[in-house]
Amino acid sequence: MSDWLTPGLAHLWLPYTQMKTAPAPLPVVSSQGVRLTLADGRELVDGISSWWTACHGYSHPHIRAAIEAQLAALPHVMFAGLVHEPAARLAARLAALLPGDLERVFFTESGSVAVEVALKMAIQYWRNLGREQKQRIVYFRHGYHGDTFATMALCDPEEGMHALFAGSMPDQIMAELPTDGNLGRAFDLLLDTHAERIAAVIVEPLVQGAGGMQMHDAATLACIGEACRRHEVLLIADEIMTGFGRTGRMFACEEAGVVPDIICLSKALTGGTLPLAATVARRHVFEAFLADDPGAALMHGPTYMANALACAAANASLDLFASEPRLAQVAAIEAQLATELAPCGELGGVADVRIKGAIGAVELCGAIDLDGLRRRFAELGVWVRPFGKVVYLMPPFVIEPDDLSLLTGAVRRVLTERAAALP
Ligand SMILES: *Cc1c(COP(=O)(O)O)cnc(C)c1O
Repeated sequence: MSDWLTPGLAHLWLPYTQMKTAPAPLPVVSSQGVRLTLADGRELVDGISSWWTACHGYSHPHIRAAIEAQLAALPHVMFAGLVHEPAARLAARLAALLPGDLERVFFTESGSVAVEVALKMAIQYWRNLGREQKQRIVYFRHGYHGDTFATMALCDPEEGMHALFAGSMPDQIMAELPTDGNLGRAFDLLLDTHAERIAAVIVEPLVQGAGGMQMHDAATLACIGEACRRHEVLLIADEIMTGFGRTGRMFACEEAGVVPDIICLSKALTGGTLPLAATVARRHVFEAFLADDPGAALMHGPTYMANALACAAANASLDLFASEPRLAQVAAIEAQLATELAPCGELGGVADVRIKGAIGAVELCGAIDLDGLRRRFAELGVWVRPFGKVVYLMPPFVIEPDDLSLLTGAVRRVLTERAAALP
């Protein structure tokens, strides 16, 4: 076995993990296409794209070449008073790809920080317009927007992982998604009642990811956009998970014809290679920060902002979206998930099966042994990592039908075994 594993594990603190009881993590030594290779030589077919990032599969030669070339020229330089080509190109390309006049790009290094920046933009936008009472943020049940303090306050208070910190978080306003007429009227009333205190509404368009892979339709999103416009509240679209094709369009907002005031991007931005995030504002949002007063400027600037290697990787990822049929691949994955995953709905212990784009989610009911399910998937040669009540697949878009069948077959098999063992 690997000589680094045991000595290193004695010093690592793993995410979302009860270190006393959780099974040891699997040592990975390389990745290629849709496969991870473990230290003992076993291969796992990856069903979750490394937390939804590796949309082109692993080690894509085009992204690797771009990173290598950038490494030789300029790996990183501070981004205050200096600017470089990969960031400038990437900003212009994102502005061209995004709907409407979402055209001003602020780079950071993680999704949570991209959301933090969006919140600062929204609150300061209103302050700069002389409406400093507008500071509250409205979020939705089942939402997930990150692990930092401001973003934890926008996660589902019950299903979220952050109940522990409730007393230390800012107090925000939770709403139900307006999925029907009554809920639409209730949402409208909520904004109407509190509009003077609300800076923005934040939503994960079409699919709420880490809060349980909950899905809503484009009409719901359109209803949110309408209500925001009527009540002078900014709309922040958190497309950190949905952005870059995952739901079937380049950006989920497009399906509803909604142009949010601010959009947050990360996860698949670099094709799963390097950490990078972007908060992109519409023109009117940016213009509210233009003044002779230096105090009206956006006061944020992460040390590694707009890292040149990460920007080069993101540019290469966008090249691949332009040169390869990614959205058609997503449509094919959606169709295959619909045929091969839907039968899970008949199994005992299954509450619901939901599919959207390259996302397939099976919601379970009854007692759920997450560690046991995870171990069983690895035994079957697939990397599938259920959380909460959901077993889900979000494979790289380049996955071949046979490999996708391995994943859906493993899900059906594991859930059939679980159904047989249920009391
Ligand atoms: C992952 C995620 C985040 C947080 O991103 P990090 O890079 O983990 O900080 C925020 N919002 C959504 C919708 C996400 O899926």
